[in-house]
Amino acid sequence: MSPEAAGDDRPRSLHDYMAAANAAYYGSRDPLGTQGDFITAPEISQMFGELLGLWFADLALRADAGEAVAYVELGPGRGTLAADALRAMAKAGLTPPVHFVETSPVLRETQRKAVPQAVWHGDLSSLPTDRPLIVIANEFFDALPIRQYERTAHGWRERMVAGTPLRLVPGEADCTDAIPIQLADAPLGAIVERNPASEGVMAALSARIATQGGALLVLDYGYEGPATGDTLQAMKDHRYADPLAEPGTCDLTAHVDFAMLAAIARANGLRPAPCVGQGAFLTGLGIDARAAALVRTNPERADEVAQARARLVAPEAMGTLFKVLAVRHADWPQPAGFA
Ligand code: SAH
Repeated sequence: MSPEAAGDDRPRSLHDYMAAANAAYYGSRDPLGTQGDFITAPEISQMFGELLGLWFADLALRADAGEAVAYVELGPGRGTLAADALRAMAKAGLTPPVHFVETSPVLRETQRKAVPQAVWHGDLSSLPTDRPLIVIANEFFDALPIRQYERTAHGWRERMVAGTPLRLVPGEADCTDAIPIQLADAPLGAIVERNPASEGVMAALSARIATQGGALLVLDYGYEGPATGDTLQAMKDHRYADPLAEPGTCDLTAHVDFAMLAAIARANGLRPAPCVGQGAFLTGLGIDARAAALVRTNPERADEVAQARARLVAPEAMGTLFKVLAVRHADWPQPAGFA
């Protein structure tokens, strides 16, 4: 987004604002890591990607699809998760073809260095149609643009971005039809979020998995809706920032409604496993044993490994706010980690 666009006082939906700001943001930089604006689980420790790789291999082998299955990742960032996962999988004898769905040219370049054999896609439509897909999406859905609706004295209105400086104001049109029925009587001032892009991605992937076989693993911060609340946030230099100041220069995210994603999968004939926290999931996959093994071979890294493990699983860190959803083809076995 150009700096002038920040001063544009024509109202547009928060959705259009967030889509344009994030496209500009991700399209122009590598935002991850200590030099960037935020850090993600795979950038905290190799243990994260390795455990997901073993999760993948275990599921593919138990489904008897080890030869056929493709590794698909949505928004792979620096390619770190995929590189760690593929290394762990190779030790289990699995070397699937790799498909990345990524829009950012800058991040594609970084991913190419980490996983040179990957095939890149701008959207889901060109993913292979001839084999089962196991799809991983870590902190992907949270970057997709939301719509926000506000209960005003005149009824439900979509929130628009307008003015100088930019601020959120209710639009003119009545939006009652967009509100889940359970929330229609929410109190004055209540905010409801919808994420049409996430709903579209989930529907398209679910249809693919229902036809081709496979599973989808979603890890992100979120809740099980329907619920009210404003979850829009901006991160810059590892701090919260004002989402409306300097559009395109910070990472805009919103919490993911896992119940909505599971409902779409179910409507397409897939089986969702009940959502678990990231801490319980990684513990179930054996993060403690992996951490102990890493320390045995690298005793000098004991503190670093212990800190990384705690960040990934502790309830006050990423252990409970981050949730994990797995959905699978009805004939596929239950994935590991969902007790
Ligand atoms: N999964 C990575 C990166 C998370 S950041 C990790 O955990 O480290 C979000 C990622 O999604 C980035 O790679 C970003 O470029 C990508 N992304 C954002 N919007 C996208 C879209 N609409 N389509 C495809 N990729 C997108």
